[in-house]
Amino acid sequence: MSNAIVSTEVVVIGAGPAGLFQLFELGLLGIKAHIIDTLRQPGGQCTELYPDKPIYDIPALPICGARELVERLMQQIKPFGAEFHLAEEAVQLERQDNGRFRLTTSAGTVFDTGAVVIAAGVGSFQPRRLAVENVADFEGTHIHYSVKSAADFHGRRLVIFGGGDSALDWALDLAPKAASIALVHRRAEFRGAPATAERVRALAAEGRLRFVEGLAQSLHSEAGALKGVHVKAASGELQLLDAEHLLVFFGLAPKLGPIAEWGFELDKKAIKVDTERFESNIPGIFAIGDINIYPGKKKLILSAFHEAALAAFAIQHHLYPAKKQFLQYTTTSPAMQKRLGVVAA
Ligand code: FAD
Repeated sequence: MSNAIVSTEVVVIGAGPAGLFQLFELGLLGIKAHIIDTLRQPGGQCTELYPDKPIYDIPALPICGARELVERLMQQIKPFGAEFHLAEEAVQLERQDNGRFRLTTSAGTVFDTGAVVIAAGVGSFQPRRLAVENVADFEGTHIHYSVKSAADFHGRRLVIFGGGDSALDWALDLAPKAASIALVHRRAEFRGAPATAERVRALAAEGRLRFVEGLAQSLHSEAGALKGVHVKAASGELQLLDAEHLLVFFGLAPKLGPIAEWGFELDKKAIKVDTERFESNIPGIFAIGDINIYPGKKKLILSAFHEAALAAFAIQHHLYPAKKQFLQYTTTSPAMQKRLGVVAA
């Protein structure tokens, strides 16, 4: 938790392909930026939803894996040294009397910034919650969507929900250390890596982990403490699994979140922008990528790249209205090449 105010020219919200390329375009113009993302790694949908799928419509790259695209973008923006604030959600944004913005993250980081770029895609990725009554009463204490410290679960009675890699990996990791452990998944087949799934099945066959095919039905608590969870099997049979802690790994789903409250003109949950500056109805706040909408908008990575280039010029004009703007080519501009670090300073 840091409360020191970070003063900067631009903050970009969202480190998907749009936000990452925005850092490049700002960097070419010599503008310093910080970038925030709720996720622990950059890449947005590419990394979170389809890392291993090939993309075929990135100009000049006939085929490029989604994760590879993010790695290439990270390499391309490296010279500009933008600061990353990962695993932080932008939660509050206020326009100050001097025209600058105060932006606060979930980790307590506060920015004082001249402009903001919203590159928040389809929203900030949040864990899919366990769909049972009173779940909120136990979240963070007895119901967990990530493991911050594995030692907290040693010697405890655990039920893990999910069938993907996170659920299987934690089941394997915690099985020898927990007092008891059950893995609940709605189907007998797992989505996780086949080798990991095999090891989980072997543990279950040895009786060192209980596997239950079913869905969480309701929580069982006594005097405010979680004691277990009722699980409904495919057959309709209801069983009570003893548990102090539930670890739930249902993946992440995007949610527009706090951005919806910041006073933007929205259309179908997207921020309306013009197509010259990609600026929202709030001067100094720009929106690019999947989060914006304008006539003819296509939610494609290449559209986001174009929007980032034009937004960078608009941001420069917003920050330094007196500065003369002219187009420079990276092939021939000594200033840009210096910023890129491709010629001696
Ligand atoms: P995103 O990639 O959604 O990134 C937005 C980021 O913002 C996220 O990481 C999110 O966590 C973060 N964020 C949101 N709110 C906050 C907040 N308040 N605080 C902090 N962080 C926040 N496009 C193509 O061009 N070609 C394709 O072949 C293609 N294939 C696709 C296949 C699939 C399966 C899917 C799902 C999409 C595909 N797309 C494709 C679409 C493409 O992935 C999106 O257009 C692109 O990811 C949009 O980039 P973005 O940076 O705008 O948003």
